[in-house]
Amino acid sequence: MGKKKNSPFSGHHNDLVKHSNTPFDTFFILKRTTTTNESFHTVSPFLVEKAITANLGITKSTRKLSSGDLLIEIATRQQAQQIIHLKYLDTIPVTVSAHATLNFSKGVISCGELLHVPMEEVLKGFQPQGVTHVQRIKIRRNGHLIDTKHLILTFHSPKIPDSVRAGYIKLTVRPYIPNPLRCYKCQRFGHSKTSCRGTLTCARCAEAGHDSSDCTASEKCVNCKGSHTSFSRSCSAWKFEKELIAEKVKKNISFLEARRLVKSRAPAPGTSYASAVGKKPETTSTRILPKQGQ
Ligand SMILES: [Zn+2]
Ligand SMILES: [Zn+2]
Ligand SMILES: [Zn+2]
Repeated sequence: MGKKKNSPFSGHHNDLVKHSNTPFDTFFILKRTTTTNESFHTVSPFLVEKAITANLGITKSTRKLSSGDLLIEIATRQQAQQIIHLKYLDTIPVTVSAHATLNFSKGVISCGELLHVPMEEVLKGFQPQGVTHVQRIKIRRNGHLIDTKHLILTFHSPKIPDSVRAGYIKLTVRPYIPNPLRCYKCQRFGHSKTSCRGTLTCARCAEAGHDSSDCTASEKCVNCKGSHTSFSRSCSAWKFEKELIAEKVKKNISFLEARRLVKSRAPAPGTSYASAVGKKPETTSTRILPKQGQ
């Protein structure tokens, strides 16, 4: 300690000392600036690797996405400041942007002492710990939304910390695993009613053309064809989706990767996904509403 470490990247260390505690992005997308749809599919990986190292030094990882863009994980704050100004990779013009979701993570804390503290004050208190957003989990009881002591914190970091401090109280942070999003129109997972391009399908009997409010037909699920409603929590398709989200959140991977992973270890019919994975995912069976009166 005490010895000042010299930056290996000379000439850029002038504004590094300030904001040394503020969070920074670590995942960036490198797109080819092109009018002819060129991507990195056709670029030599030797050239890519060499050019990245020449511009940034040693980074954590580089991956090509199915789009042909590069996903680069940088290692230092300095690289974060450098990569965003990158205009060329070797002679290839590129556009750089921070990844929209990978640089953030969500965690849940539970704290009775924060139950009546205004959300602005809660956010202010957690901001120096890298928190960018706070949302209280509410539950619906007898038609009323009731505040709980559980809070969802968004961190400007790909991984949640083990704990945060609310003043004198140390709180454990658990990964936040949202429930699968099911469309109220077509009953499929992964989109909402407002962006639905499917047909109105009954959540009770899986027949198209009517909704479930007056339906008395026998129960059939749209997603797994089982004899339960499409909103049943015993649905294997729902459990699969939930596991997928859990995997995505815990490993910080894409939906596609998570789907591949969960599919590859799909248990025999009748076994629950949660039990097959061994670790019980953090479940919020409650409805989470950012604003009241919706
Ligand atoms: Zn739909
Ligand atoms: Zn029906
Ligand atoms: Zn089902």
